[in-house]
Amino acid sequence: MRKPFIAGNWKMYLDEASARPLVEGLAEACPEAADVGVFPPFTLLERVARWAEGSSLLVGAQDCHAEAEGAFTGEIAAGMIRDAGGTHVILGHSERRRDFGEKETLLAAKLRGALGAGLAPILCVGELLAERDEGRTIDVVAAQVDGALEAFSAEELAALTIAYEPVWAIGTGRVATPEQAVEVHRAIRERLASRFTESFAAAVRIQYGGSVKPDNAATLLGEAEIDGALVGGASLKLDAFLPIIRAARVPAE
Ligand code: PEP
Repeated sequence: MRKPFIAGNWKMYLDEASARPLVEGLAEACPEAADVGVFPPFTLLERVARWAEGSSLLVGAQDCHAEAEGAFTGEIAAGMIRDAGGTHVILGHSERRRDFGEKETLLAAKLRGALGAGLAPILCVGELLAERDEGRTIDVVAAQVDGALEAFSAEELAALTIAYEPVWAIGTGRVATPEQAVEVHRAIRERLASRFTESFAAAVRIQYGGSVKPDNAATLLGEAEIDGALVGGASLKLDAFLPIIRAARVPAE
C-alpha cells in the first residue's frame, strides 16, 4: 500500500512574511491520508522546519551538492540540509536539467550524497515535448531512471520517490491526461521491477508533476498508479494547495 505524497516545490518564491502563514496553515491541516512536504529555497529551510515542528509536515530542499563538504562556492551539501532540519531533497528537476545541464551521472552522485546524509530523495524524470511528439517518451524516461539509479541497490533506494514530470506540463498550465501519466508511471514501475525487484517496484511512490491544480488534482490522484503530486505554482498559496492535498486518498486494497 503506497501512501500518497504531495510535495510543494516553492522554487525561487516566497519570503518569511508569505511563507510562515502557509507553513502554519499546512501544519495545522495535514491529513493522515497523505504525506505532505514543502521544499522552500535554502534560506528559508531552517525557519520552515522550525515552524513545522510538532506537525507531520515534511520539509526538504530543492537540490543538494554531491559531496559532503569541500571548496564548492555557493553550493549546499546534503548534510547541511539535514542540519537545517530538512529530511527530503528534490533532485533532477527539469529546471536544473535545463538551466544547469544536470545529467544522470551527476544525479547519481547527488543521490549518493543525499542518501549518505539520510535525506529521502525525490528524483524527477520527464520528457520534452519534442521527445513525446517523436514517440520517445518511455525510452527517455527509462534512460533517466536507469542512468540515475543503476549504481544502487534496492535497499539503498528504500526512501526514494520518483516524480514523473513531463517538461511540457511544468508551469505551462498544460496538464498530462490521467491516461498519459498512468502509461508512464506503469513503464517506470516495470523498469524498476526488471532492474531491481517486484517488491521494490511495488513500494516506490511515483508522483505526477506538471500544472497540478485544485481543478485537476482529484482526477489525477484518483488513479491507483499516481501516488501523489509534485506541485509548483499551486503550492505557493494555502487555498490552492490544500484542495490538492485533500484530493489525495490512500487507495483501497
Ligand atoms: C514543478 O515545479 O515541479 C511543477 C510541476 O510546477 P507546476 O506545478 O507549476 O507546473
